[in-house]
Amino acid sequence: MSGANPDECGTECQEALDRLERYLDGELPGTSLEEVKEHLTACYPCTDRASFEEQLRAIVRRDCVESAPTALLTRIREHLSGLQTGN
Ligand SMILES: [Zn+2]
Repeated sequence: MSGANPDECGTECQEALDRLERYLDGELPGTSLEEVKEHLTACYPCTDRASFEEQLRAIVRRDCVESAPTALLTRIREHLSGLQTGN
């Protein structure tokens, strides 16, 4: 048993993902920042999600928001929500 219980992970993951955007923007205050960081260290799916969001942001920044392909972003979002439900 590796202790990867999805039920156990649920609420914490939701909270971490709720704060992910501000985390990546560097807008989280110290305590929340530490909590998210700690969760990302312990939770592989969230780490994966966070690095994906980070890459997505880098792409959007590089290509400028106005010219970002909406269809691509939608597809990425759909892919991410698919990962989240796992069904
Ligand atoms: Zn998580």
